[in-house]
Amino acid sequence: MSVKKRLFGTFGVRRTANDILTPEFASRLAACYGSLVKGKIAVGGDTRTTSRMLMDAVKAGLLSSGCDVVDLGIIPTPALQFAVRNYYNGGVMITASHNPPKYNGVKFLDEFGIGIPDDMEIAIEEMYFDKQPHRVSWDKIGNSMYNDNILQEYVNNAIKNVDSETIRESNLKVVVDCGSGAGSFTAPYLLRKLGCEVITLNSQADGFFPGRDPEPIEENLTELIEVVKQLNADIGLAHDGDADRTICIDEKGQFVLGDKTFSLVEKQMLKENNGGLIVTTVATSQAIYDIAEKYNGEVTATAVGDLLVARALKDKNGLFGGEENGGLIFPDFVYGRDAAMTVAKIIEIIAKEKKPLSQLVDELPKYYSKKMKIECDDNLKEEIMNNIANEIKSTTNYKIDTTDGLKIFKDDGWVIIRPSGTEPIFRCFSESNKQDNADEMALWGINLIKKHINMVK
Ligand code: MG
Repeated sequence: MSVKKRLFGTFGVRRTANDILTPEFASRLAACYGSLVKGKIAVGGDTRTTSRMLMDAVKAGLLSSGCDVVDLGIIPTPALQFAVRNYYNGGVMITASHNPPKYNGVKFLDEFGIGIPDDMEIAIEEMYFDKQPHRVSWDKIGNSMYNDNILQEYVNNAIKNVDSETIRESNLKVVVDCGSGAGSFTAPYLLRKLGCEVITLNSQADGFFPGRDPEPIEENLTELIEVVKQLNADIGLAHDGDADRTICIDEKGQFVLGDKTFSLVEKQMLKENNGGLIVTTVATSQAIYDIAEKYNGEVTATAVGDLLVARALKDKNGLFGGEENGGLIFPDFVYGRDAAMTVAKIIEIIAKEKKPLSQLVDELPKYYSKKMKIECDDNLKEEIMNNIANEIKSTTNYKIDTTDGLKIFKDDGWVIIRPSGTEPIFRCFSESNKQDNADEMALWGINLIKKHINMVK
């Protein structure tokens, strides 16, 4: 079994700010990272009230380990990833993504702008707890600099990657809700540069997130939905706190699910490039495979996690990738979930196809999904997972995939059972061509987990 991590979760180190995640904590953690990486490190943060404080602490830690530091200011996570890939040896992002305002987090990047791999996280933890970071002598302290050009470069580069002339000719009306997050500094400007009529909601940076919760789920976007309908806009767009996720609302005010956005962009990317490799996770829709088959594409599925998708895209020279939650990755631009490219690309699709978004979504393969979860003690998960896999293998003929948990292919769809890496729960997703079937299969999966929980207790 792998080493249990003491600090890092799926999204770096995320804690309540200035309570657990204090400046001292952040500074020592950054000094450990700096001791391993060296060179010129970019630092950025989202709009939270504690981001600036933690950025300064991180900068001090990096400088003390001999790194040079470049402060990029308050920017989206993908803008930092873009900068690191093009100019720097590493990066540190201060963000808690979509979590409530009292949280913050520290996310470390490698030289390609991808979240650092597990072995490096473990090495940082070892240094943090059991050893000392490397502190350089007074005459080896690094330089501290600023770069204010990244936001503009990031936006301009996203625009270069789309057919901006066709977009301009379409005169699209767009409502964008940045949730007072870091997207406030990019999304409205990007859309205006593309000639759209732009109406902004919550696009003033504010760490109290006064307009809405930073997580772009449907119940938090009721205002955006209403404004799209009232103004007869072509599309509504929403970001999370650090602007790496993008959610779309169609011209009828309907919330577009993440896997629909993914399929829509996949279709366009494959058409434009005459095929290519698509990378996704085992929990994503069959629609991704159907589209790939139709448009000369190939699909590789990784375990769940955007870092794994990003890394596979880089290693296998993939064309495009994404997850079922609407995080889309354009590897020619940024090795991570990106919002600027996603916005530009979706607007381009509407402009090029000359169809409303609802129709474009309607033309995609139709599948229905169900997501359920059930509580389970962390220390029982491994045994239960093995027992479930053994039962399926010995009592059924179902095809299975063990890339992440257990994916079971049944006659009318698939079910995936996965122990969560961050919470004491099992997740169970299902997908079928009918909602009833999907509901039934998810319930079947949950009952299977329940039975095995009771058996080991
Ligand atoms: Mg995020």
